[in-house]
Amino acid sequence: GREPGARRNSAGLDLADPLATEQLLQEMNEARTGEWLSGPIVGGELLKRDTVEVINPANRTEIVGHVGVPTEVDMDKAYSLACSAQKGWDAVGGAARADILDKAADLLEENMSRLMGLIALEAGRTVADGLSEVREAVDFCRYYALQARTNFADPKTLPGPTGELNQLSLHGRGVFVCISPWNFPLAIFSGQVAAALAAGNAVIAKPAEQTPLIAAEAVKLLHQAGVPGEVLHLMPGDGATVGAGLVEDARLGGVAFTGSTETAKAINMALARRDGPIVPLVAETGGQNVMIVDSTALPEQVVDDVLSSAFQSAGQRCSALRVLYLQSEIADQVIEMLKGAAACLTLGDPLQLCTDVGPVIDEEAKAMLERHVERMDREAFPVCALPLPEAYPDGSFFAPRIYEIDRIGQLEREVFGPVLHIIRYRAGDLDKVLDEVRATGYGLTLGVHSRIEGRAQEIFDKLNVGNTYVNRNIVGAVVGVQPFGGQGLSGTGPKAGGPHYLYRFACEKTLTINT
Ligand code: GLU
Repeated sequence: GREPGARRNSAGLDLADPLATEQLLQEMNEARTGEWLSGPIVGGELLKRDTVEVINPANRTEIVGHVGVPTEVDMDKAYSLACSAQKGWDAVGGAARADILDKAADLLEENMSRLMGLIALEAGRTVADGLSEVREAVDFCRYYALQARTNFADPKTLPGPTGELNQLSLHGRGVFVCISPWNFPLAIFSGQVAAALAAGNAVIAKPAEQTPLIAAEAVKLLHQAGVPGEVLHLMPGDGATVGAGLVEDARLGGVAFTGSTETAKAINMALARRDGPIVPLVAETGGQNVMIVDSTALPEQVVDDVLSSAFQSAGQRCSALRVLYLQSEIADQVIEMLKGAAACLTLGDPLQLCTDVGPVIDEEAKAMLERHVERMDREAFPVCALPLPEAYPDGSFFAPRIYEIDRIGQLEREVFGPVLHIIRYRAGDLDKVLDEVRATGYGLTLGVHSRIEGRAQEIFDKLNVGNTYVNRNIVGAVVGVQPFGGQGLSGTGPKAGGPHYLYRFACEKTLTINT
């Protein structure tokens, strides 16, 4: 094992080094085999089932691989194996589990370019996105390993009267179901699973329907690192049958979920209705994230930070910027600069290094965004729209757009894609802005650009938001540096990549012995 405190975040690769990137891109392209296979992985074995195609969102005529559809019997078998194996996994202790997760981190790092290739092909994520995603997955494994080693290894002896021994110990809760999204198909998938495993749970992981291939690769690496096949199972499929089936099972010990607020609420209902114990739900959901920029901000920096916050990952991050509040004195200047800078963004194939914005995840997401901009074209003032790339007629591409709107309430819900909305505000109206933001009910990320002393702190104090970023962009939270997760409609907490996350995956036992 490693010493506590020795953890470092993954170093990744230098994308500015031409030799290294040439080799990286070549290796990433080798993922283009069309032969990736996922499906139910139960007891360490990928079961042969009827399969459906997994396609490349940048080119829907390209088959990336296939995924087998699990049966009810598969789910039942995964549950029964997981239930019988969980006590043993808990009993090996935090230190042994940490060693395995550290090994998994090493394997993820060793497979970086192959995984990045698959992330690009299956999820349409750019080279830079894929790189930060593999690094984040590595960081989650090592971070939770360290937590397990530090807090889950030995029972804690507590003070008590003479002649009495009191001990508090942490244990897994049973079988955790981890339901993850397609927007970080490796990082969030691995983060949830690593946390649940670190705390001593058995896991059934249900990746997003769109991204089962990368999930299967992650599970294989975890097994290779030493997680027993009976302890970790993969159950790909849709939410309505596979997700709901897993959540309704009386053998469930807890749920980790990242996705929409509506689905989180539906899971909560299902948990309340079903037979079986009362179990925790760790939910990380959407946002209506704003950035507030006053006249003391540095315009060049604002433009840079706005573009990366709104359009990186094609806006498909729950941390992404949706509404930019500009103080009226600087609004015209910043909007002009934004228009110019946005026009320089390159839309295209995620496997090209020059691509800034790849496709959106599928045709359904594209249609939702198109409906939104149709409404915006009627109700708002269009600032700019990028042209669609001509080279990819079969891709699910959606060009970034910027609109000016009057109030945040005009956006009924989170618009999950590259659409930025701008609202002008007057210097004296800051409290009105904060009221408006509060009224959305969300509280995930927040940006403030200001050089007025105490202004950012005031806004931080007044709003209930999980992650506030001052004078920088609002995406790309780093494990152990910016623990990530929101409040209100944005999630339950505790924060992923933070020191309290594992406790929600655990139960506590107190042992008192009269000696
Ligand atoms: N942690 C990611 C970030 O800070 C966002 C996660 C998500 O989109 O679910 O950008």
